[in-house]
Amino acid sequence: MQVQSYVLKATSKFQDLINRFDNSTHREIDSSIMKLANDPYSNTKPLKGRYYGRRSLRIGKIRVIFAICEECRKLGALLRKDSKCVDCDEESDKTVKLFYVGFRETVYDSL
Ligand SMILES: [Zn+2]
Repeated sequence: MQVQSYVLKATSKFQDLINRFDNSTHREIDSSIMKLANDPYSNTKPLKGRYYGRRSLRIGKIRVIFAICEECRKLGALLRKDSKCVDCDEESDKTVKLFYVGFRETVYDSL
């Protein structure tokens, strides 16, 4: 059994969005997200520009946008102002916060 080293926390918006997918897609997203708890860095992409500080996980045409709170902290206060990683100060370093899930075409407009 693998030890989960990170704690996943979904925002209410994220929960709302993931529930809009059909069951099989929902399960596929769930199983991909579970892998983030072991290592949120590998196979994920740091975002740039106005999304700096957040990361993207690719699941086919779907993207999951998240942040790792230890990375939030490394990147500093500049990021936090616009990172939408609310309550970041109260989270442990090992928190992975899930913000958004949606199709690639629309996901970045919705952040
Ligand atoms: Zn954070």
